[in-house]
Amino acid sequence: MVYLQRLVIAPTQRQDWQIFLTDAQQHYLVRVLRLGSGSRFIAMDGQGSSWLCELAVSLTQAKIIESISVETELCLGVTLMVAMPKGSGFEQIVSQTTELGVATIMPLRSDRTLLNPSQGKLERWRRLTQEAAEQSERQLVPKVLEPVDFATGIQLTNSLNAHRYICVARGDAPHLLNCLLERGLLEETVQLHNSQPSSVLVATGPEGGWTAAEVEQAIAAGFQPVSLGSRILRAVTAPIVAMSLVAAALEIGVRRH
Ligand code: SAM
Repeated sequence: MVYLQRLVIAPTQRQDWQIFLTDAQQHYLVRVLRLGSGSRFIAMDGQGSSWLCELAVSLTQAKIIESISVETELCLGVTLMVAMPKGSGFEQIVSQTTELGVATIMPLRSDRTLLNPSQGKLERWRRLTQEAAEQSERQLVPKVLEPVDFATGIQLTNSLNAHRYICVARGDAPHLLNCLLERGLLEETVQLHNSQPSSVLVATGPEGGWTAAEVEQAIAAGFQPVSLGSRILRAVTAPIVAMSLVAAALEIGVRRH
């Protein structure tokens, strides 16, 4: 199939078979991409629906040609709880883990977190998930939650039916990949329709690492300490590696069955 540009739209922009474009979307399609009347693109609502569209003569609207279905989502929802690194590192985490299939990103203020992001930062992270979801041809735009303290984050996950892991850089914790494979996660993915929906939760720490108290608190809440390998990864690299491992384990599992 030919490559078609993807564009995330808000649900209110769609009325029956028409999509009303925002000024920014018109500018992007017409001025940046040089699309004209009759040009096709894919509109997606970021919640699982996508439509093949054709730009109208007015260039302010698009006509829906048909609903399209593609399968690019992982079979379990993955939540990353990420202690925010300093600087702009969180932007890289948001973009790259979106490409890898994350469903929810929970920014954490841990004991050793130095960043205190403004509301503007949160909006920027949410825009980045849209751009990365368009680029990687996903159906879902991941949620970026409001930053929370470590203890609140742990509490928020209590009600989830999830496999929980906390990445610890030192010690003799088992490798995340082994845990994913051993826990029967793969079998679960193919029996989803028969079982309770479940998900995978992975927490990664800040530059200075977790405090011992944080790791204990996580273990008490059912998190399994895990390793990402023998090398110490940067706080920006760790969530990206963790997400790659979870995505690979889930995708291998699905193809194998
Ligand atoms: N300063 C810490 C130390 O010396 O132990 C290292 C912190 S590391 C830069 C930041 C975070 O990435 C850690 O808290 C952990 O969650 C994760 N991480 C980095 N390397 C890891 C590894 N090899 N295994 C598991 N987690 C790792």
